Amino acid sequence: LDAPAYLTDSFAGAGVTALAEVVGAEQTVPTVDGTAVRYANFDYAASAPALTEVAAVFTEALGQYASVHRGAGHLSQVTTARYEQARETVRSFVGGRADDTVVFTRNTTDAINLAAHAVPGDVVVLDIEHHANLLPWQRTGRARVVTAQPTFADTLAALDAELSRKPAALLAVTAASNVTGEVLPIRTLTALAHRHGARILIDGAQLVAHRPVSLASYGVDYLVFSGHKVYAPFGAGVLIGRSDWLDDAAPYLAGGGATAHVDLDAGTDWHTGAARHEAGSPNVLGAVAIAAAADTIKNLGFELIGYHERDLLTRLDEGLAALDAVTPLQIFDDVEDRVGIAGFVVDGFAAREVAEYLSNHHGIGVRDGKFCAHPLLTRLGYPEGAVRVSFGLGTGSEDVDRLLAALAELTA
Ligand code: PLP
Repeated sequence: LDAPAYLTDSFAGAGVTALAEVVGAEQTVPTVDGTAVRYANFDYAASAPALTEVAAVFTEALGQYASVHRGAGHLSQVTTARYEQARETVRSFVGGRADDTVVFTRNTTDAINLAAHAVPGDVVVLDIEHHANLLPWQRTGRARVVTAQPTFADTLAALDAELSRKPAALLAVTAASNVTGEVLPIRTLTALAHRHGARILIDGAQLVAHRPVSLASYGVDYLVFSGHKVYAPFGAGVLIGRSDWLDDAAPYLAGGGATAHVDLDAGTDWHTGAARHEAGSPNVLGAVAIAAAADTIKNLGFELIGYHERDLLTRLDEGLAALDAVTPLQIFDDVEDRVGIAGFVVDGFAAREVAEYLSNHHGIGVRDGKFCAHPLLTRLGYPEGAVRVSFGLGTGSEDVDRLLAALAELTA
């Protein structure tokens, strides 16, 4: 790949510009001194702002809006076609197999709850997981939690030992930590699970907007993610993967659309495929928006996205390292790849104080707390929580510089 223009500019000292336009990028917010400043969004990992392309497709779809899977009218047909096309776009975006089922869910949490309802056996998970990839399994009573070790190599050995000790149906693991951004090697984990006769489910919530994934070529069995973390609006997510367990499971929701035939005496004949688990009118616009986001991300290309993220992360990491009061959070010593997330604590300040200072004095939005990963924060030694900054396609180096300057001012 030729060096992208923004990189050439950054070599010339001009900095890294945003890679894509997001809705609301120029909005201003009030600060305590009475001035309004441009909002610097460092909370992409929680919910990324919508891309302008996504907003345009969303608005267009809203203009051609009718019932889905039901009506014979023209707009119903258009809506149904859009919804089903979105399914295929998602399949292709994550390299799904032709016979994988693509279910539109409400979000990642919903997708994992659906998977938990369908998995026929024990599930091995790590203690670094977001609660969404822990509690649904725990609730089934079949979760076996393995403590992550200070290196990924030792963690792999611990997973290996647990899977050797007793067979499991599934290994469910995050592809990128929502606390530190560290990217776990999916292919290695997939090979491990398969060696033990288990399937693998990847929590891609923090990955799919940042790194390419291919279920087919990696051999991943299931992948889940959320629209609102891939530059689409809230309310829609995805579970994609092998159809057999999903077809064997009871319908996730009972109701219209999930049935082929209902007879009060003879009983109900449930669909197989996505329809089995999508009873009720689905979130068509959410699905269409995810597909639009997938198209936009694909057009930008993961190579360019990776460059942009790496340059901003280097700038951020170097800046944070120069601040004596800041201690970064890290799970593994031997994992190099990271998406645009940095978790840290600041000596002398509670995480909430840091977040409020950044917001109230500088118009910078970050996240503080335990990030729905309480076991991890406790084990890392931060039971009171930490600060998390995260960025994405709409972020430029001036945003990173503003954040670093504000932290320097706080800790001076
Ligand atoms: N998994 C990871 C790694 C996450 O970061 C998140 C959200 O922060 C989730 C799951 C849950 O996503 P959602 O709230 O969209 O269900």
